[in-house]
Amino acid sequence: MSKKQFKAESKRLLDLMINSIYTHKEIFLRELISNASDAIDKSYYKSLTDSNIVFNKDDFYIRIEVDEDNRTLIISDTGIGMTKEELETNLGTIAKSGSFDFKENNEAKDGIDIIGQFGVGFYSAFMVSNDVTVESKALGSDEAYRWHSTGIDGYTVEPWEKDNVGTKITLKIKENTEDNNYDEFIDVYNIKSLVKKYSNFIKYPIKMNMKKRELKEGSKDEYIEYYEDETLNSMVPIWRRNKSELKQEDYENFYMDKHFGFEKPLKYSHVSVEGLTSYNAILYIPSKAQYDFYTKEFEKGLELYSNGVLIMEKCGDLLPDYFGFVQGLVDSADLSLNISRELLQHDRQLQFIAKKIKEKIKSELLEMQKDERDKYIEFFKNFGRTLKYGLYQDWGANKEMLQDLIMFYSSTEKKLVTLDEYVSRMKEDQKYIYYATGENVDKISKLPQTELVADKGYEILYFTDEIDEFAIKMLMNYKEKEFKSVSSNDLGIESDDKENENDTDNDENKDIFSFMKEALNNKVVEVKASKRLKNHPVCLSSKGELSIEMEKVLNMMPDSNGNIHAEKVLEINTNHEMFSIVKNSYNSDKEKLKKLTNVLYNQALLIEGLPIEDPVQYANDVCELMK
Ligand code: ADP
Repeated sequence: MSKKQFKAESKRLLDLMINSIYTHKEIFLRELISNASDAIDKSYYKSLTDSNIVFNKDDFYIRIEVDEDNRTLIISDTGIGMTKEELETNLGTIAKSGSFDFKENNEAKDGIDIIGQFGVGFYSAFMVSNDVTVESKALGSDEAYRWHSTGIDGYTVEPWEKDNVGTKITLKIKENTEDNNYDEFIDVYNIKSLVKKYSNFIKYPIKMNMKKRELKEGSKDEYIEYYEDETLNSMVPIWRRNKSELKQEDYENFYMDKHFGFEKPLKYSHVSVEGLTSYNAILYIPSKAQYDFYTKEFEKGLELYSNGVLIMEKCGDLLPDYFGFVQGLVDSADLSLNISRELLQHDRQLQFIAKKIKEKIKSELLEMQKDERDKYIEFFKNFGRTLKYGLYQDWGANKEMLQDLIMFYSSTEKKLVTLDEYVSRMKEDQKYIYYATGENVDKISKLPQTELVADKGYEILYFTDEIDEFAIKMLMNYKEKEFKSVSSNDLGIESDDKENENDTDNDENKDIFSFMKEALNNKVVEVKASKRLKNHPVCLSSKGELSIEMEKVLNMMPDSNGNIHAEKVLEINTNHEMFSIVKNSYNSDKEKLKKLTNVLYNQALLIEGLPIEDPVQYANDVCELMK
């Protein structure tokens, strides 16, 4: 019989498994049991929806057999089974190729991250075995097949005899090594405790034939031994159990078991609602963004059960996009088993549940923000951007939902703060919520535009995410306080004489400014005396709706042609000694002023983090002026 080759990426994953130094090799059992349970789910679902398929409740189970002498561990199920083709495609290739792309980047650590992060399914068997056999008979088929592999060099598939529908996986357990005690995987009691630890809430019985010992009747020291099937797991799914019986660890194990995320979740919430529409839900906030979370491929959604039967793996309608990171499940007896995806969207009950879940997530997050600020900051670093996108989408329709969840770095607090905290700290004479945009906190704090506002003692929010300013434009105001960019023309700051002084400045220097504007060839709509500068000679501000930061972001969009321009204003600090040079040049050397204007304008661009249009010209001008 000829050997077939694994597909290239399967080979690499397999290689990682075989040579893995991962310490939690025991998770292979969880993976195989979880596959078995999924396979039974599929049969069970068929039996409920297809009248030709009839099962008894007792027909569904998973069995574990341990043979110490032959060093084998067998996991069999009465699930849907696999055809010959399915054996080859399901076990010869990796379905989730996307996740493997990511894995490659992490390979350096010997696959440790990968295994921990993804729970790699069937292939994890190769962590404890170098001889794996899968016998399977598919539901509705008369033929059975046997898949066999001893590792990297390929696998065989051949016709086989198997009485019942389902799958039987036989692992020949590795010999002990210096570093690894593989004997624990042929130790009945250890296997039993692993099942309890990882698979306790699997819906179907996980049975094992256990040796029992009893005192012989009428005897005090003579025992009889016999074997009896024991169900190792409790079977009641976790979401139907009483919260008080469950420990944090149970929720975390369930999370890992379901592959909801790669690390322990940041927070979980267990909801049981009785009413017109009753449902149970478990919701998780992951501690890290899923590897594909910020890609187009990411599919949000919760598992959806109808009275304990899985009807949809990812029900997207249960989560708004801005809470798309939430993982978990919903089970409701009020949902029909046979409902189609299209109908589901319009299902009143589902809409009701979705609304409740949305509110629950919000309140959980607010609670975390209030009581566990560090945790919330961690959460916000991962998912804050999604919340802000949520504000931006739908033209601010989600304002009520999201405005209290977002945070920004504060110039005075030197950490992330909420809008509520900002407003509560506002000075009596302060009209606006001030913000400044830039690449990062450090750069923003050096922006000359912030000087006046900061000098007034007002707090400034730093917008470092591209989306920030757009989101805020949708929000418009918070608690009736408008947002104001420190670069905007009207800062609403009453500065006694400054206002008049400023007007005089502009009048006096009218000719100089218009000469400078001319020299800049319409790159700016105005040159004027600045009200906000103190230590810097120049800065840029903008007129109109479009800010300079927004120009940057919009021009970076994939389909932009770089044609978006904010109406820029070159502001000059007339108290700066540079301005006396400008004045002198205007009177004695207009050519010099042209160069000076160009250099000043380019400096203002650089401070804004914008590219200068002609670096060579700029360098030449600087040299000329230095002469
Ligand atoms: P995953 O379970 O994450 O899809 P696996 O590598 O564990 O990845 O399994 C690959 C596929 O093989 C499964 O999606 C399923 O279709 C099939 N499979 C695995 N184990 C069984 C089983 N016990 N019964 C039926 N099909 C199975």
